[in-house]
Amino acid sequence: MSVRVVARIRPLLDNELDKDIIVRADSVAQDKSNTLVKIPNPKNESEEFSFAFNSVYDRSTSQEALFTSEVAPHVKSLFQGLDVTIFAYGVTGTGKTHTMRGGLRLAERGVIPRLLSNVFRRGKRIAKDTNGDSTVEVALSYYEIYNDKVFDLLEPPEKRTPSGLPLREKEGKTIVVGLSERSCEDLKDFERLYIEANNNRVTAATKLNAHSSRSHAILRVRVTQTTGDTVRESTASCIDLAGSEDNRRTENGKERLIESAAINKSLFVLSQCIDAISRGDKRIPYRESKMTRILSLGQNNGITIMILNLAPLRSYHLDTLSSLNVSSRAKRIEVREVENEVVIKPATKPASVLGGAMSRQPLRP
Ligand code: ADP
Ligand code: MG
Repeated sequence: MSVRVVARIRPLLDNELDKDIIVRADSVAQDKSNTLVKIPNPKNESEEFSFAFNSVYDRSTSQEALFTSEVAPHVKSLFQGLDVTIFAYGVTGTGKTHTMRGGLRLAERGVIPRLLSNVFRRGKRIAKDTNGDSTVEVALSYYEIYNDKVFDLLEPPEKRTPSGLPLREKEGKTIVVGLSERSCEDLKDFERLYIEANNNRVTAATKLNAHSSRSHAILRVRVTQTTGDTVRESTASCIDLAGSEDNRRTENGKERLIESAAINKSLFVLSQCIDAISRGDKRIPYRESKMTRILSLGQNNGITIMILNLAPLRSYHLDTLSSLNVSSRAKRIEVREVENEVVIKPATKPASVLGGAMSRQPLRP
């Protein structure tokens, strides 16, 4: 199991062009590619915090460039039987959906349609190269986890039961009982299903304010290669996570508190799993949240990529810092250009960051 944690800084939107940019990508040495994210210390702006990642993509990175460097190299592994898991993590409004789904225009397409396009292309090539002796089948499941409940997005919203779909253990794996799966012939087929499913999500959500930022959307692509009696199966999972901001800071309704607790818990467990995998630990705490359990995160042989989406704006400052703290590989804050004599505490533990402690009290002594 290998893991990569990369950061992507989004550009300013048309209505943000006059806003202050405070987040930037940097490299450790001039001729090296970017691996650092730099952001001012909100308590003392003459200092800059620096967070290390496997790679950092700046504001000008195109959808194609991101896909080509981070995802395309793993399509081959997928066909060799490895599972690939891709997460988009970050505050609401930082570009998670843009990164995963993207826009309708070709150049704006995100990771998901590009991945599917590559998978279909490779599948067809395998069939052709083997004169049809090997066949490749692609099947999709798409579901969301909202308040720790699982809802099928390939089914119309009126079929939803309020309690969601149950989980069961089968041969050491967690399965979602009753989750539908559709086989897909080509990219057109996929797009039809995907658009319809995303509409299901929106329709089901109209009663809930900003529902999509509070649920995890998980697309599972199952690839089955058959050659004679040999069947090789692997899965690519693409996850557009719930917003990592501290929802409690602005609103205190009961429903919001329940949502926040569910989001914080699952994102915390996710970050612990990513840490454990990157350290090469034997024990990955994947059973401690429904999302990581369904994905069996760390239990399969495969590749996990976490994309931390960041908005460069000052209005996101505190939330950006806490998401950097959670996802930074190094978990170390380096202080540069210190003018005043200050003591910087070590990076706050993920638990308290996710609980919002960092973005609330300590910054206002
Ligand atoms: P999230 O899913 O994290 O809440 P979105 O993906 O909806 O955020 O992005 C917020 C806004 O920023 C959208 O209007 C989106 O089109 C735009 N956006 C995000 N990332 C980029 C990017 N890399 N290039 C251009 N626009 C972007
Ligand atoms: Mg989104």
